[in-house]
Amino acid sequence: MPRPPPLRRHPVTLRVDTLWGIFALEAHVKIIIVGGVAGGMSAATRLRRLDESAEIIVFERGHYVSFANCGLPYFVGGVIRRRDELLLQTPESLEARFALDVRIDTEVVHIDRTAQTVSVRNLLTDEESVEHYDRLVLAAGASARSGATESTIPTHTLRTVDDVDHINAVLTSVAAASAVVIGGGFIGLEAVENLVQRGVQVTLVQRGPQIFTPLDPEMAAPVLDRLRERGVDVRLNTTVTGSVASGTVALSDGTTVPADLVIDASGVRPDVTLAQQAGLRIGASGGVWVDGTQATSDPLIFAVGDGVEKTDAGNGSGTLVTMAGLANRHGRSVADSIAGTPEQAAPALGTGILGIFGLTIALVGWNEKRLVAAGRAHRIVHTHPANHAGYFPGAEGMSIKLLIDAETDAILGAQIVGGAGVDKRIDVLAVAMAAGLGASALTRLELAYAPQYASAKDPINQLGYVASNLAQGTSVNLQWHELEAARAAGAVIVDVRSAGEFAAGSIPGAINLSLDDLRERLVELPRVPLIVHCQVGQRGHTAARILTQHGFDVQNLDGGYRTWLAGTVTSPILERALA
Ligand SMILES: Cc1cc2nc3c(=O)[nH]c(=O)nc-3n(C[C@H](O)[C@H](O)[C@H](O)COP(=O)(O)OP(=O)(O)OC[C@H]3O[C@@H](n4cnc5c(N)ncnc54)[C@H](O)[C@@H]3O)c2cc1C
Repeated sequence: MPRPPPLRRHPVTLRVDTLWGIFALEAHVKIIIVGGVAGGMSAATRLRRLDESAEIIVFERGHYVSFANCGLPYFVGGVIRRRDELLLQTPESLEARFALDVRIDTEVVHIDRTAQTVSVRNLLTDEESVEHYDRLVLAAGASARSGATESTIPTHTLRTVDDVDHINAVLTSVAAASAVVIGGGFIGLEAVENLVQRGVQVTLVQRGPQIFTPLDPEMAAPVLDRLRERGVDVRLNTTVTGSVASGTVALSDGTTVPADLVIDASGVRPDVTLAQQAGLRIGASGGVWVDGTQATSDPLIFAVGDGVEKTDAGNGSGTLVTMAGLANRHGRSVADSIAGTPEQAAPALGTGILGIFGLTIALVGWNEKRLVAAGRAHRIVHTHPANHAGYFPGAEGMSIKLLIDAETDAILGAQIVGGAGVDKRIDVLAVAMAAGLGASALTRLELAYAPQYASAKDPINQLGYVASNLAQGTSVNLQWHELEAARAAGAVIVDVRSAGEFAAGSIPGAINLSLDDLRERLVELPRVPLIVHCQVGQRGHTAARILTQHGFDVQNLDGGYRTWLAGTVTSPILERALA
């Protein structure tokens, strides 16, 4: 695609000869930005830092710019107490500091690429006007997908300050409020937590069989447990069919639940209205297509944020990642592109994190479901380490799943669910992926250690140990969902935990032979394929090494009894077993 010449950084002086004398005019570059929140405002402020003379106009159809949309759920829950803490900037503050012309309540309704103009409508007065642009940046974000049906009950998305004002108005108008939240994704779960925090009785309605689908099912099981433990009525495989009476919502499972309010968090889709109307290329994922410098198929028009297709780090395909970090990063880099110093964007890993009732959920890259669907050969590691040395007071557990390319040892993805320290580990893994480190190389990372922070063998190093054992063939593991097929083919399950642990709960049909007795009792084991397991996988590995060296055909159940239980048994049994 031909690239436009870089924009001049400084005003160009034009000499104009007239009958009355010679006049000097300054021609400024004019950049128009559509959307004044994450991506748009990052672009605008960076542009100003790079070019004092450019004319920069930001059109925002909402009433607020640069507001903290990620903080909205926490204002509903009262964690963020003051509404003005969400409003990071105003048109006036942006004018004062960055000399930006920010026009709120103003919608861009049309792009004329030939004339290089946009038509804008003032939503308060309905007046329309036309503005010329030298460069145009689309940062229109995403729009909500609706999972609600016609209802007499107030139904809101949770995306804007106005949404939160409406939600708060409903909640303050009733004494003992109840709510239905549709969708158990990022925003749905944050809504649930904050409604409960506020004393609202919550029903969470999820269309499919699993809560928080970016996780694989065994990793999502503790999330479901935590929700139910905190009194949330979670309905899986269910949709809202309508309101039956004031204050009652009907569900597809034939029941009705109380609701003064419905929060529709069914998901989002890229807002490509303007781009489509302007005939810009739309990617296969549904987002606006851009190259690595954020330029669209029209070299004078750029696009960033939730509305834009990203390049997937996993396979180079187009993908959608609706996260603030990428919107901000790409907003910054689009300014560099426009200013004439373009950089190629790094592919998107899809790193994300979420807190729900004290449980941290974090993920990066691909999950197992996606790898299987793509037919991509992979290895899996589950571990259940503590965030720091177990002997130091206050250690908290976490469950980690690492997905590895079976051919190259590349890290393809990770999921972590647990308490303290989850955030740090997911970021280390995201950095390892961005740096192209193989899974086995995690053994070599020299990470900070003192007993109150980590372990001398950090959970990240431990992942590397397991991964390198698998890569070298020192151990062979089996996933929780492969167990039944292996047993049906004649394998025997050997539980190497203590008799007490076995009695507290075991895999049906397993025989118990504790690790410490194993060497003495080898003769009792049949010469058939064996699947050993312990609670989390570590003793199972030692047992597998003993048995392998005695000529047995053996596999270690990855992640042990804990992962198997999470994958096969639903709450509240899981919660009791892990307590
Ligand atoms: C409740 C909530 C919580 C979130 N929490 C997190 C989190 O914890 N972590 C995280 O990484 N991400 C989070 N996100 C996602 C994150 O906010 C988005 O990824 C990010 O804001 C996307 O930036 P953007 O610039 O593409 O779109 P936005 O920030 O949504 O901005 C787009 C703006 O464009 C305006 N607009 C659209 N069309 C027009 C038009 N034609 N004319 C004028 N204006 C227009 C819209 O009004 C909107 O204000 C959260 C989102 C929400 C809603």
